Amino acid sequence: MSDIVLSAKSAKLMMVCEAEGFATIDDLFVLLAADNLCPAICMTEGCDRIERLESDQEEGYCEGCGGNTMVSVLVLAGLI
Ligand SMILES: [Zn+2]
Repeated sequence: MSDIVLSAKSAKLMMVCEAEGFATIDDLFVLLAADNLCPAICMTEGCDRIERLESDQEEGYCEGCGGNTMVSVLVLAGLI
């Protein structure tokens, strides 16, 4: 995996944290403990749609751009 992909991932991760009010990555562990839907973000550049999906979602459908590009924040953070 290249550095470019990694930085894009962390940028998206930061976006979700800001949008959902998570101050640190540690706050994401609360989502792991709770058996609920968790925030997912579209990985398409410039789309940035955020929805609640399954916590292990890696290719969810994005209603913003129509791609299977929604990735759960827990997957993004490498927690799953
Ligand atoms: Zn999208």
